[in-house]
Amino acid sequence: MSQQSAFTYIRSGVTPFFRLPSGEAPYDAYDAVVLGVPYDGGTTMRPGARFAPYEVRRASARIQCFHPQHRLDVFRALRVVDGGNVPAPPFSGAAVRELVEGMLLAVVESDATPFVVGGDHSITLPILRAIARKHGPVAVIHVDAHLDTSTGELWGDEFHHGTPIRHALLEGLIERGQLHQVGIRASFGHPEESALSLAYDARIYDMDAIDDRGVVAVADQIRSDVGDRAVYLTFDVDGVDPSFAPGTGTPESGGMSAREALRFVRALAGVRLVGMDVVEVLPALDHADLTVDLAARLLFEGLALRAVRASRTSPA
Ligand code: MN
Ligand code: MN
Repeated sequence: MSQQSAFTYIRSGVTPFFRLPSGEAPYDAYDAVVLGVPYDGGTTMRPGARFAPYEVRRASARIQCFHPQHRLDVFRALRVVDGGNVPAPPFSGAAVRELVEGMLLAVVESDATPFVVGGDHSITLPILRAIARKHGPVAVIHVDAHLDTSTGELWGDEFHHGTPIRHALLEGLIERGQLHQVGIRASFGHPEESALSLAYDARIYDMDAIDDRGVVAVADQIRSDVGDRAVYLTFDVDGVDPSFAPGTGTPESGGMSAREALRFVRALAGVRLVGMDVVEVLPALDHADLTVDLAARLLFEGLALRAVRASRTSPA
């Protein structure tokens, strides 16, 4: 699908993701659908991620179609539409999980690839439920400062933004040995905080590992480990250092630079991406669009991964 021209976009004042057309289910005519989930009821600290879909749409209007490193026109290689937002009621996490899973099922059942802007990280659980219903247990690349394997013990709720990976492991949505956690650096609440990940043979690349090996070597290792499996990429923007991504609710100093984060996603080229999200973007705490611009660029890199794969596997 081609983008609106910059002029048309300015003229209309409407800002769909990447200046793309809007589309609705069924999505059979499309390769990828970009969706927003304006929900942050799973936040334990600073709220506001519900506004990210609106602000990332605005920032994404500045991104153009041609990817200079992969040498391809992403929106010519892929038919991508803005599928709108999941209409998330702010007070009911259970209702949001149902709605997100339903909307994601509509995307994957059309054989389109979902790209989702949260929202807080709790939305990744219903996304993965839909993904696993389509693909079975998948490989998950999880970029985050945090492991997100917490229990409901502290807050009395099992489904907050610190728990999606725990549920995804316990529900069998992630293939054993195929959880790749990248950028981890938060302090633990207790010595056994990484025990669940390790019990499922997850690979944990903390920031020391990234410093020692570099993001390209880490991405190469992950590419080799996932092989031709279906891969879901969940990108918590707090995996990036707060100096580059200040607009987030649970910042942890000492993370990847924006440049490293973008290079990491780019270096995954070749994996069979079946979905991606960017979560925990909090526009009210952003400065100078740093975080919303990065989120838009990360999504574009994800779309480019899907496009690289499409251009390699489709007949000429
Ligand atoms: Mn996090
Ligand atoms: Mn997270």
